[in-house]
Amino acid sequence: SPCIRARGVGKTYSSRSSEVEALTDVDLTVYDQEFFCLLGPSGCGKSTFLRILSGLVSEYSGEIEISSARADGGSVTNMVFQEYGIFPWKTVLNNVAFGLKMDGVRKQRRHERARSYLEKVGLAEFADAYPHQLSGGMKQRVAIARAFTNDPEVLLMDEPFGVLDAQTKRNLQTELLSLWSETKKTVVYVTHDIEEAITLGDRLAVMTARPGGVKEVLDVDLPRP
Ligand code: ADP
Ligand code: ADP
Repeated sequence: SPCIRARGVGKTYSSRSSEVEALTDVDLTVYDQEFFCLLGPSGCGKSTFLRILSGLVSEYSGEIEISSARADGGSVTNMVFQEYGIFPWKTVLNNVAFGLKMDGVRKQRRHERARSYLEKVGLAEFADAYPHQLSGGMKQRVAIARAFTNDPEVLLMDEPFGVLDAQTKRNLQTELLSLWSETKKTVVYVTHDIEEAITLGDRLAVMTARPGGVKEVLDVDLPRP
């Protein structure tokens, strides 16, 4: 069933001196548990659209509906960025458990959960390390472990592997797909890389150049890695 419906969504950034039309007329539907890719050139408005979905941008035109099956008060969406967004002064374990801490989950429970996802991304032995001790790929694994630990209904990912080398990117894509198929989260994944979109996505929306809009959504039916 539909998880996200966007109808005629647009966004203009206004300041005293200028207006930037970032997004125009996005129509799309994302279904429960699918891996949805939003593909488009740099600057077309993909991040803006994700930030609207996450609630970080509150003024926009058009309509967004996100259906939540959730009664437990957990988060509906969770964002993963290209720049990791992890705290340098916290250990890997405390970074991964941070969202659960904010949700008031008890220490033992949140550490258990965080450790189980650290294990899934191959970083169990790094629980007590600090981010500066990790490579770029390892930091992004921490960010992914944290996103899944938070247990949102929808994972919003903004070019999370954009700065990684090709081999590391392939490794993380494979890990992400396996976490996704294990947890059945709905994923909205933004990228400007068509190869990545086709590798990862079940369905694919193409956003036109700035100001971007989406009118058509394609089904991708290719074998996964
Ligand atoms: P993409 O993610 O596809 O690269 P963005 O959503 O980041 O695109 O940006 C779309 C357009 O909106 C760009 O022209 C960008 O410069 C502009 N933009 C993004 N954020 C802001 C902002 N906070 N204020 C003004 N303009 C912005
Ligand atoms: P990236 O994912 O950034 O390419 P790699 O996984 O290739 O990073 O590893 C970069 C460095 O970190 C290497 O020296 C590698 O041995 C070390 N490393 C990465 N993951 C682990 C791990 N799970 N256990 C031990 N060392 C690791």
